[in-house]
Amino acid sequence: MTEYTVTRDTFNQVMVPNYAPQTMVPVRGKGSRVWDQQGKEYIDFAGGIAVNALGHCHPTLLKVLKEQSEKLWHLSNVYTNEPALSLAQALITHTFADKVFFCSSGTEANEAAFKLARKYAHDHFGPEKNEIIAFNSAFHGRSLFTVSVGGQAKYREGFAPLPGGIDHLPFNDLDALSAAISEKTCAVVIEPIQGEGGVKPATQAFLEGAKALCKKHDALLVFDEIQTGVGRTGHLYAYMESGIEPDILTSAKALGGGFPVGAMLATDKVADSFNFGTHGSTYGGNPLGCAVALEAFNIINDDQLLAGVSRKHAVFREHFAAINDKHQLFSDIRGRGLLIGAELKEQWHGRGKEFLAAAGEEGLMLLVAGPNILRVTPSLIIPDEDIQAGMARLEKAIAKVLGKT
Ligand SMILES: *Cc1c(COP(=O)(O)O)cnc(C)c1O
Repeated sequence: MTEYTVTRDTFNQVMVPNYAPQTMVPVRGKGSRVWDQQGKEYIDFAGGIAVNALGHCHPTLLKVLKEQSEKLWHLSNVYTNEPALSLAQALITHTFADKVFFCSSGTEANEAAFKLARKYAHDHFGPEKNEIIAFNSAFHGRSLFTVSVGGQAKYREGFAPLPGGIDHLPFNDLDALSAAISEKTCAVVIEPIQGEGGVKPATQAFLEGAKALCKKHDALLVFDEIQTGVGRTGHLYAYMESGIEPDILTSAKALGGGFPVGAMLATDKVADSFNFGTHGSTYGGNPLGCAVALEAFNIINDDQLLAGVSRKHAVFREHFAAINDKHQLFSDIRGRGLLIGAELKEQWHGRGKEFLAAAGEEGLMLLVAGPNILRVTPSLIIPDEDIQAGMARLEKAIAKVLGKT
């Protein structure tokens, strides 16, 4: 067998250049700590972009993965399997939903949701009712349909012709929604907190208003909870805090705890429009993924764990506030639970990446949300000592970047 020697430089030689990963190559993780090829240690505030909700190599997930790996890996949807059925049961027991569709990523969950919304409207009201309303800065994935529903025009550039019948409105603007929605609208798609778009929470009034307008116009309310779901905000799903239930909800990222799993949840009435043969996915409901996801779901769907997420939010906030007192770097610190964004002051706009790189040098894995916002989405069970130590590293990184100018 050929052995390959790989470093970060290999990336530029062998990978399509659509990413620009950080300079180190992580090789191992445990809890909220990660080690790179040179053995250097990092504290992980990135959590694989809100995916590793229980940190790296959680012992219980590891046990379930090993057990399932000795039983059954994959079947396809020609056959059903116990882990998928159990995970679906867990999801419908603990949410608004009656039915579940499984897939392998957030994009696929949204693709299913948008197709289902169109199909439902087509079945019940006719082909004219096909327009989707979405919001500026929203992120819904990178397939041609989901990137078209997304509200960042730069992600669509060069990919025309694009799917039509999609309208983008200012986020949290109920008047704009009220003016735009019509009998032709089949769905209104909202992230309860825009994640990639800058950690911007939807207001309660906006969610309530959107729900009422959808009802009035027979449009479906779709919540993209791919980033906010499965404990991220201190609630099992963010919609539970608002009390506003959607007709369709999409979940991925934290759902698999690091294993690629996506799900679309729907009410019975809506789900019926995906009748036999209308949609599918070879990997959807994969037993290995669903076994891990069920275990992760059961651990996270726990009052004490969820209360811990809200408490850790406060710990992060204190540290961010202390850094800001010292360096006056941020104009706003916002978010819920362990989805927190710190917006850089205007004179630092466009320079988020420099802080990310400096954090890496200090031994901290961090995220940005666009060019102006530093973002953290760590493990939901990150120990307070790791928050403390990570924020100390962040402060050092910030001091370095500020010192250079
Ligand atoms: C990450 C994300 C997606 C896309 O999920 P993928 O697994 O990358 O396909 C969609 N919507 C939101 C809100 C996300 O955060």
